[in-house]
Amino acid sequence: MLTLYNSLSKKKEVFKPLHPGKAGLYTCGMTVYDFAHIGHGRRYVGDDILRRTLARFGYEVTHVQNVTDVGHLSSDSDEGDDKMEKGAQKAGKNVWEVAEYYTKHFYDSMDLLNILRPHVVCRATDHITEQIDLIAKIVDKGYGYETPEAVYFDVSKFPNYDKLFGQKLADKRIAVREEVETGSHKRHAADFVLWFKRVGRFAGHVMYWASPWGDGFPGWHIECSAMSMRYIGDTIDIHTGGIDHLSVHHPNEIAQSEAATGKQFVRYWVHHAFLIVDGKKMSKSLGNIYTVEDVKKKGFDSLALRYFYLTAHYRKPLNFTWEALSAAQRALGQLRSCISGAGRTTLSREKLENVDNFRRKFDTALEDDLNTPNALAVVWEVVKSSIPPADKRDLILDFDDVLGLGVGQQPREHKTKVTRDIQDLLAKRVQLRKENKFEEADSIRKAIEDKGFVVEDSPKGTTVSAGAQHRLRS
Ligand code: AMP
Ligand code: ZN
Repeated sequence: MLTLYNSLSKKKEVFKPLHPGKAGLYTCGMTVYDFAHIGHGRRYVGDDILRRTLARFGYEVTHVQNVTDVGHLSSDSDEGDDKMEKGAQKAGKNVWEVAEYYTKHFYDSMDLLNILRPHVVCRATDHITEQIDLIAKIVDKGYGYETPEAVYFDVSKFPNYDKLFGQKLADKRIAVREEVETGSHKRHAADFVLWFKRVGRFAGHVMYWASPWGDGFPGWHIECSAMSMRYIGDTIDIHTGGIDHLSVHHPNEIAQSEAATGKQFVRYWVHHAFLIVDGKKMSKSLGNIYTVEDVKKKGFDSLALRYFYLTAHYRKPLNFTWEALSAAQRALGQLRSCISGAGRTTLSREKLENVDNFRRKFDTALEDDLNTPNALAVVWEVVKSSIPPADKRDLILDFDDVLGLGVGQQPREHKTKVTRDIQDLLAKRVQLRKENKFEEADSIRKAIEDKGFVVEDSPKGTTVSAGAQHRLRS
């Protein structure tokens, strides 16, 4: 039985969907004002594993993902400027062009990571009517109120708002204090915007629509409630997001949705931990924000990045280093070699049992809150096992329906040849190792790997390869 850790109950729970055999999955998408990076890659590979696991266990999945192209301000608590309008100023383009450009970039990056496209991709700006209707319902039911600048959700009307996901209302008061100082007319510091009016600091806002409360644009949170209701229904089986959404975005989604419908909004909340780089938070100032193309430009297969993500459980932080990515690329290459060229065999009864055992172990790992490190460990048990090559191949390909590493395909990209400078570095490294200068040899290995090649030492010598194909023995 599939169990998922539900961030709301803070327990692993057996997954039981609202409608037997079906699973409605909603994933908060990206705010498309900048490039998607490898942190986003980790986040959405995590969702992809969830979706593929649900399919493996026989559920008919409806996967919906929003694209935030309006209303998300610099801070999640309605502070600062609209990220889209700021992004447009920075790029010297209009907001619509910026949204289109970065949405394309986002999905191109996700394709490189073999992430299945959601069944429904919905843009906030294409669903303004749904958002206005939902806000009107909330206001009618007495949970919303209008001020000269916005329509707010009144959190004091929603029972236990301050307890959702264990957030502390007192902390949120501090977090939004600046807004109180800017003269907001809102009643409580944690009240959040449902509709921004095109007045005051937003008088020149480029994206705006007519509404019962005047021209303006929706707040960020309302889009997810409105679009999930439209495409999945009032109750979603699984809603995913990053851990950054635990404090503001998701409590707000719950409050406004349940206020409007009087029904449970989400049955299982799944939250993904962050990717850090070289032990630090990714940031422009540290220059450690990499895109999937950056990884490719260094000669790595983008699916090695996917493999790397799977080495950690989705609820644990993961530290990206180029060395770790090289190790992932090596592992992926070995998996591909293991299954290439295996012929067909007939299984004896004993081998059949072995195969079933491996399959059971793999499923058990997934059932345990999507434990991908354990699932990968089963893959390697299969590789090292004594079952015939053809059956190894079949099993690994079966597992790959969930892992999505494309092991049955050729690498998507690789350097076409080991270049002269790599050959020179390799020769130098071999010499240093002969002289027992291992530290210097290691730094040369790193230099080679930074150029996108994989170095492997074995009793027969050293090989350097790009992907699984191009090998040079020294
Ligand atoms: P954004 O629209 O950029 O705020 O991010 C879209 C999603 O990506 C959010 O759910 C974030 O939680 C997630 N995200 C952003 N940065 C990272 C990161 N470094 N690691 C994992 N997830 C991230
Ligand atoms: Zn959302």
